[in-house]
Amino acid sequence: MTEGVQTPPAANAGFTPRVFSGIQPSGQLHLGNYLGALKRFADAQERGVQSIYCMVDLHAITVWQDPADLRNATRELAAGFIASGIDPEKSILFNQSQVPEHAQLAWIFNCVARLGWMNRMTQFKDKAGKNAEKASLGLYAYPALMAADILIYHATHVPVGEDQKQHVELTRDIAAKFNHDYGTDFFPMPEPVIEGAATRVMSLRDGSKKMSKSDPSDASRINMTDDADTIAAKIRKAKTDPDALPSDAKGLDGRPEARNLVNIYAALSDSTVDAVLHEFGGQQFSAFKPKLSELAVDRLAPISTEMAHLMQHTDEIDAILGRGAARAREIATPVIKQTYEIVGLVGS
Ligand code: ATP
Ligand code: MG
Repeated sequence: MTEGVQTPPAANAGFTPRVFSGIQPSGQLHLGNYLGALKRFADAQERGVQSIYCMVDLHAITVWQDPADLRNATRELAAGFIASGIDPEKSILFNQSQVPEHAQLAWIFNCVARLGWMNRMTQFKDKAGKNAEKASLGLYAYPALMAADILIYHATHVPVGEDQKQHVELTRDIAAKFNHDYGTDFFPMPEPVIEGAATRVMSLRDGSKKMSKSDPSDASRINMTDDADTIAAKIRKAKTDPDALPSDAKGLDGRPEARNLVNIYAALSDSTVDAVLHEFGGQQFSAFKPKLSELAVDRLAPISTEMAHLMQHTDEIDAILGRGAARAREIATPVIKQTYEIVGLVGS
């Protein structure tokens, strides 16, 4: 995270720096989630900024989820957070549906956000595809709920992958319009924090599509729970071009699959694209891919082992999420109360 976390921008003067981010329990955690989100959450936590991390189960059900799978995915996601280094005592870790203030604020924001804004959201277009008429109303309203997730905690920084930048910008628009319409400065303007060499990890099958939990092809992603052989097989089969690796970053232009694998290597080794190409420039993928597999296994194996261990005690995971939700509500309850007062909703 940048120094910006310690020094909030002028618009957020008066707000305590606070990090919020969420992940959907909509399937298997993958390398993109790790490099674009989880790994960076752990870094943020170590910098001592108050951090709130959420399993956004209400977002997951914007597309149909089998109830038993959803329950299991929520717990496995919690295990993924903890195994990636999120300490539920230091950070606040919980699932969204246990804190009803998210949904309450989302309704207010449904009344603040404009249809024109929502119509520009590329995630809805990507996920609804050609069949937008059949998509759920929830999928369309998703960004207003995400704005509520962030603003119910007056969060100032939102570490996300590149794909969520537009939604965080919409969150700022919603905060600004609310503040303007009600003549207040109640909500901060949260900053997206998008950093590192792998802010958009691409599908292993198609360098123009991002790696996603919801991609029907398991070969498109490296799951955090894949074993060493599966990881090696997926990387071996990953789409590439016939040329050798270039010796500088410019040589990756027009080569999305090559760029993706180099970005992944750089992010996993806490290095840079230039340093990776300095080492591997001129080599064929047949030489680079085994090195990449070795590195991916080396980084992911301890996490997946710990996840499996944690999943043997789901009652403990549920207890952690319950405690996290109680702590989250201590922040969220006064914020929704004040929001209702500002809006003119009568209550005691
Ligand atoms: P779904 O396909 O259900 O939307 P997802 O894989 O996109 O799942 P999310 O839960 O939507 O995962 O996103 C969780 C976090 O991971 C967000 O911060 C998002 O920006 C980040 N993220 C998701 N995919 C990638 C990716 N391919 N590269 C980098 N970051 C990613
Ligand atoms: Mg997503």
